[in-house]
Amino acid sequence: MPGTSTHINLFDLDHAGLREFFASIGEKPFRAEQVLKWVYHHGQTDFEGMTNLSADLRARLGEIAVLEPPRVLSEQTSRDGTVKWLMGFGGGNAIETVYIPEPNRGTLCISSQVGCALNCTFCSTGAQGFSRNLTTGEIIGQVWQAARALGHERNGRRRITNVVLMGMGEPLLNFDAVLPALSLLRDDLGFGLAARRVTLSTAGLVPGIDRLRDAIDVALAVSLHAPEDDLREQLVPLNRKYPIAELMAACQRYVSDKHKRSVTFEYTLIDGMNDHPEHARKLVKLLRRVPSKLNLIPFNPFPGTRFRCSPPERIRAFQEIVMAGGLIATVRKTRGDDIDAACGQLAGRVLDRTRRSERLRAAAGSAQ
Ligand code: SAH
Repeated sequence: MPGTSTHINLFDLDHAGLREFFASIGEKPFRAEQVLKWVYHHGQTDFEGMTNLSADLRARLGEIAVLEPPRVLSEQTSRDGTVKWLMGFGGGNAIETVYIPEPNRGTLCISSQVGCALNCTFCSTGAQGFSRNLTTGEIIGQVWQAARALGHERNGRRRITNVVLMGMGEPLLNFDAVLPALSLLRDDLGFGLAARRVTLSTAGLVPGIDRLRDAIDVALAVSLHAPEDDLREQLVPLNRKYPIAELMAACQRYVSDKHKRSVTFEYTLIDGMNDHPEHARKLVKLLRRVPSKLNLIPFNPFPGTRFRCSPPERIRAFQEIVMAGGLIATVRKTRGDDIDAACGQLAGRVLDRTRRSERLRAAAGSAQ
C-alpha cells in the first residue's frame, strides 16, 4: 500500500538524496535528474508515465517507492483572490497553505509543522499547541499541490514566483526536513526559484539561523515584534532563551555572508502593546546598523485572543518615525482575512499533543 513504511516517498528526497537513492538500488545517479523533471516540471507522480525510464526500472520503483504529496482536503478563495488550502496527511492532522496573488508576483506561504511549540501569545497557531514536524515531502508537497491547483506554468505562466515559510510552525525547529525542501525550491530541476524569492521566517532561533547561513542561500525573515527584552518576552517566549542582543548578533552574522544581503524584520503592531512612538524610536536604534527591511504587520485577530489591532493612524505614525530614522519600512497589506488566511490566523487541524489548547480553555473558564 502506498505510504506504508516499506515504501520510500520520493517527495522526501532532494536532488542529492535522490542521487543517493538511485545509487543505493544499483541505478545510475542521473536517474535522479530524470525523476525530478517528471515530478516538478511535468507534475507526473505515476512511475508508469515516466517514459524515459526503462520498463524494468518503472516496475521496480512501483514496488519500493511512492510519490505521495499531501492530500488537498479543501480549497477556499478570498474576495481578494487569496487562496487557502487545507492539506492533510492521514492521522487526522492537517495544515494550511496560502497563495497571495499580486500584480507582479504570486507568493505561496507554506507550513513547516503541524501546530507550533513556541506559544507566541498573539498567534493562533501557537494557541493550537503542537502535534509534529512535517516531513520534507509534506513541505515541498504543499508547493507541488498548489502549483497543480493554480495551473502553474501552464501556457508558460508562472503563478508561484515566491515561496515563504511563514505558515504554521517554526521552520528552524524542523531544520533537517526543511533544508531539503529549501533545496528543491532553489534547484533548477525543482521549482528553480532565485535565493531572494525563497524566504524562511523564524521567531528567532539563534543556532538555527547560524546553521541556515552555512547550509543554503535563502532570504531570512525574523519575527521581532518588540525592541526590548521584557516586552518581547511577553510576546515571543523564546526570547528568554535567545534575547534580542544575541538575535541581532546572529542576524549580523547572517548578512556577513556576501550572498545574504539583508534581513527582513517582522513587527506585528498590537494595540497598546508595542505600537507606542517610543517603541518605534527604540527600533530605529536597534536596527540602524543591520542591513535590513522592516515589515510592519497589522495584528490579525482570531477567536479567543485578548489583543487588538493598532488603529490605522498609529500604524502610520509608527511607520513615519521608523522611516524618518532611516529604516526601510513597509506595512503588510492584510490579505485573505475573510477566509482566515492572514498572518497568524492559520489553524489547520492540530491534534495537540501538548494539550495547550485544552489548558487555555480551562484557564479562560476559571477566570470567568
Ligand atoms: N514561526 C515562524 C513562522 C511564522 S511566520 C515565525 O515566527 O517567524 C508568521 C508571521 O506572522 C510571524 O512574523 C508571526 O509573528 C506573525 N503573526 C503571528 N500571529 C499574528 C497575528 N495574529 N497577526 C499578525 N501577525 C501575526
